[in-house]
Amino acid sequence: MSAAGARRELPGRLVAVEGLDGSGKSTQVRLLHRWLDGLGLKVFFSEWNSSVLVKEATRKGKRRQLLTPTTFSLIHATDFADRYERQILPMLEAGYLVLCDRYMFTAFARDGMRGCDPGWLRRLYAFAHPPDITFYFRLPLETALGRILAGRPRLKWFEAGMDLGLSADPRESFRLFQGGVMAQYERMTDEFGFTVLDATRSIHRQQEVVRSIVAERLDLARFRQRRGR
Ligand code: ADP
Repeated sequence: MSAAGARRELPGRLVAVEGLDGSGKSTQVRLLHRWLDGLGLKVFFSEWNSSVLVKEATRKGKRRQLLTPTTFSLIHATDFADRYERQILPMLEAGYLVLCDRYMFTAFARDGMRGCDPGWLRRLYAFAHPPDITFYFRLPLETALGRILAGRPRLKWFEAGMDLGLSADPRESFRLFQGGVMAQYERMTDEFGFTVLDATRSIHRQQEVVRSIVAERLDLARFRQRRGR
């Protein structure tokens, strides 16, 4: 089956960042990208929910609230498969360091919280190569909520899980939904060998830790653009 492709040894390496909205993972992966780029390494960045192919369908479906947990999940899986096959896998085959802001674990956590079967979700994403490092940005819910609300006045509908009808109050809904998402992430920590980070620390300190783990676990010299110095 398609999982065979996922087990193949590829010349590239894959680093993913995962965690709640507001955990600071985009900030960290952007800084990591800039650093690796500055070192002259072959690096490629990809983010969740950004495929041109399904952008319009996702936007319309979300806006009109037409999606069930299964169709919501399948649209995200289509978005991911499109980016995976067109960008992520070719870059891994070309020997790039690929950085992903969210990977299949986001679907496992969010769609699992929305009621999709965990086994079904894992089979759905079985085509994808597992990351070499998955950073999980762990922090208390209130810290994540505080960071989001410091940056903009209101929570987004899906970020707060308003579609689940858990509470009419977006902040309360956020706590309930994201609390469930966090429980899913915590359960995956051992299952997928996440590298857990204390996301309450300063941006600078976290970046130091992220860089040192990447440098220690991956042979960065292999990703130089050109031979020699
Ligand atoms: P995510 O990608 O996990 O949703 P972001 O990186 O977009 O999180 O960060 C969310 C907000 O929190 C941004 O306004 C960002 O500047 C801020 N932020 C990120 N990391 C930290 C940190 N370590 N301490 C305090 N604020 C942070």
